Amino acid sequence: MGKYRGGSTTVLKPKTTQQVSQIMKWCNEKRIGVVPQGGNTGLVGGSVPIRDEVIVSLSNLNSVRSFDPISGILVADAGCILQSLTDYIAPHNHIMPIDLGAKGSCQIGGNVATNAGGLRLLRYGSLHGTVLGLEVVLPDGTVLDQLTTLRKDNTGYDLKQLFIGAEGTLGVITGVSILTPPAPQASNNVILALPSFDNVLPLYKIVKRQLSEILSAFEFIDRTSYDLAVKHGQGRALSEDEVAGAECFVLVETSGGKREHDEEKLNNLLESLLEVDTPLINTGVLSQSPAQFSSLWALREGVTEAVSKEGKPYKYDISVPLSSFKTVVDATREHLRSKGLLGDGAVKHVLGYGHVGDGNLHLNIVADSYTPEIQTALEPFIFEIVASYRGSISAEHGIGAMKTHALHYSKSDVSIALMKKIKMLFDPHNIMNPGKVLE
Ligand SMILES: Cc1cc2nc3c(=O)[nH]c(=O)nc-3n(C[C@H](O)[C@H](O)[C@H](O)COP(=O)(O)OP(=O)(O)OC[C@H]3O[C@@H](n4cnc5c(N)ncnc54)[C@H](O)[C@@H]3O)c2cc1C
Repeated sequence: MGKYRGGSTTVLKPKTTQQVSQIMKWCNEKRIGVVPQGGNTGLVGGSVPIRDEVIVSLSNLNSVRSFDPISGILVADAGCILQSLTDYIAPHNHIMPIDLGAKGSCQIGGNVATNAGGLRLLRYGSLHGTVLGLEVVLPDGTVLDQLTTLRKDNTGYDLKQLFIGAEGTLGVITGVSILTPPAPQASNNVILALPSFDNVLPLYKIVKRQLSEILSAFEFIDRTSYDLAVKHGQGRALSEDEVAGAECFVLVETSGGKREHDEEKLNNLLESLLEVDTPLINTGVLSQSPAQFSSLWALREGVTEAVSKEGKPYKYDISVPLSSFKTVVDATREHLRSKGLLGDGAVKHVLGYGHVGDGNLHLNIVADSYTPEIQTALEPFIFEIVASYRGSISAEHGIGAMKTHALHYSKSDVSIALMKKIKMLFDPHNIMNPGKVLE
């Protein structure tokens, strides 16, 4: 997003865990700040130095250590790119439990460090469940080897959980052991055009009931998000008839064991949705080929990229109750309008999209440029709305450098005080990604 710029002079690219350990030991002794960097695709400035820290890039630590096709357990270096791990296990009929638009660049270590959610969370749960073990280099150079491949291990505190989502503030992750699910034998998707946002939740209820075990994604994009995705060449545009009167869209994916069975279920769902007096959907476009399957997904996955091409995005990645998704987007739009910033003002669009199944809304405000005026209008306005729902100000992107000042909207004073104690315990000299997560 071009929001952060540091003054680093040095990037180190260790090839082994031992080298990472030596770097950390040296930096700890000299009190030199360190920023661990994966694929650098994070959206909250966590991987960007903000002072003169040394960057430790994990990109040369990129080998698969082992894969057991029976258990599906993969052990890999932290610098492995998510897509290459997907490709590695594909011939063994397994898939990664995580998938996201940045898969071609982001690294498994970065995914773990940000506890990335993504498009498969609905089906396979979060990394707090699928990561079985970690190898981490602590700030003083000690190697914490918890790289087990056990599914069950109740032997005291589960330390690895602390590093999942710590955004590189407690140590450098060098190895990851992760449970990968068997590849579904068939995947289908359909994009549904809805006349009103009010229909999304009733639709979700029906879709869950009818598709049950084969439902693997239920993703929401509002009309503005769809229009921007199409404008910037993401995926195949639907026909004018198909989008006429649509206020928003839902992408439903199924993954199951038998193509005919899954297709029948999806077709039955579509029929039942359309053959009622007041249908919840205007229309549904079912993918008919692998290319169409990808193209429908691109409409959803491409929104992030489209938004960046359209202008300067202010990104809010929040968890609020599903029923309030639209209220939050509308309230933000009205608020900006009342400040004279929308319409002829500096803000071009206010849009919402996200993972309905996970209660996670991506609220984006696209402007011509980043200005203090827009920033002041948006914050704390949005954080206060989120707090009023006891929601999360960062559902999946993390805190990074961007949201340290807002942590208290989602974490109590007691929680923040404990977080600071944990940070002190691991990193008393505050060399690990300083200025991130905690102020
Ligand atoms: C197009 C696009 C789509 C996205 N979609 C999603 C999505 O659906 N869901 C979602 O959750 N996120 C999404 N993201 C953001 C997401 O957080 C990152 O893409 C990804 O998880 C970060 O991985 P990375 O390797 O790029 O890490 P980086 O960006 O390099 O780093 C992110 C943070 O992790 C730390 N870090 C990185 N590697 C390590 C390591 N080995 N040890 C310790 N700390 C480390 C960094 O210091 C930094 O704080 C998206 C981003 C883009 C650009």
